[in-house]
Amino acid sequence: MTSGNRGSVNSHASGKQAPLAALTRIIGLPILRVMLSQPDTTSVAALSSRLATVRARLSEAAISAERDPALITLVAVSKTHDRRAVDAAVAAGLLHFGENRVQEAMDKFADRPTGVRLHIIGRLQTNKARDAVAAADVIEVLDRPALADAIASAADRLGRCPRLLIQVNTGAEPQKGGVALAGAPTFITEMRRRFGDALTGLMCIPPAGVDPVPHFQTLADLARRSGLERLSMGMSGDFEAAIAFGATSIRVGSAIFGTRLREMQATA
Ligand SMILES: *Cc1c(COP(=O)(O)O)cnc(C)c1O
Repeated sequence: MTSGNRGSVNSHASGKQAPLAALTRIIGLPILRVMLSQPDTTSVAALSSRLATVRARLSEAAISAERDPALITLVAVSKTHDRRAVDAAVAAGLLHFGENRVQEAMDKFADRPTGVRLHIIGRLQTNKARDAVAAADVIEVLDRPALADAIASAADRLGRCPRLLIQVNTGAEPQKGGVALAGAPTFITEMRRRFGDALTGLMCIPPAGVDPVPHFQTLADLARRSGLERLSMGMSGDFEAAIAFGATSIRVGSAIFGTRLREMQATA
């Protein structure tokens, strides 16, 4: 949608007729007004059709891996998309949502319908831990002792603790969150001692532009050796491979919601 808007600005600049003006001439302003005031219908339809494709891909990948598709959680990454997109996704039957920023998550999910689950999947500052603990059902980005302290004290005060996943920086990327691979086994042991059953699994974001498979494999091996059940891995472009290597949840944004208007830093 952005590129369309940009296109119209560019065509003004180049002296060509703007698409909107052309449309107005063809179908008349009143009809155009009605169409523009009802973007919901088209976006719900587009979302449903993209979602059907994602579900088919998920099922096919699970079946080829001899796994039960129903046991793989589809986490819809709704970052940058507004509440209407979330409502459309809920209407289409999605229950799990992933957000990178705590404030944005609280704005969109504070009064969510029962059954809708919020996952925090972006880098979490310690000063946002309390809000994250209050708002989230799952925090997927536990990656350092200071954050563990902040989560633990918030959980004590609030009397609730979300499910926790440890993010592992499998690509050793300095700009990315996640515990270093070498330190992961010790960190996992400490976090299990501290959080008990609330600690359920591991999460990774492979580096962009490389084969993600070794990263999925590494994370799966680490989880198996640590006795952790949940594996959050795989995004729009690579979730089939993640499912083949044991992902129990996949985080899918653009393949469900379309291209993000405002792209986030890939440093989550
Ligand atoms: C944005 C994001 C996703 C979704 O990415 P898509 O390629 O749009 O599916 C998944 N995981 C994390 C941590 C993200 O930040």
